[in-house]
Amino acid sequence: MSKQQPVLFHIGWNACINCGACVAICPQEAGFVSPFDTIAVDRPCDIACLLCEQICPVDTITHERVGIPVASNGVNGQ
Ligand code: SF4
Repeated sequence: MSKQQPVLFHIGWNACINCGACVAICPQEAGFVSPFDTIAVDRPCDIACLLCEQICPVDTITHERVGIPVASNGVNGQ
C-alpha cells in the first residue's frame, strides 16, 4: 500500500459547530485533537484519509499537502 503524502488541516473556526464528528471518525492515534476538540491542526496527519473533511457537516475543514515525497530509492527530491 502506498503511503499518502502528509497533510496539514485547516479549520474555519467561525463555521465550526464543535459537533465532534471529525474526531469521532478520525483513525489517527488518540490525542490527535486540537484544544477545541476538533482534529489537530498543529501537526501533519500522515494517514491523510480525509474522512474528517467528508464528514464535517459545515464543510469547514480543508488541508494542504506538506512534506517532501520520498523517491523509490529513499532519497528525497532535493
Ligand atoms: S466536524 Fe466540522 S463542525 Fe464538527 S467539530 Fe469537526 S470541524 Fe467542527
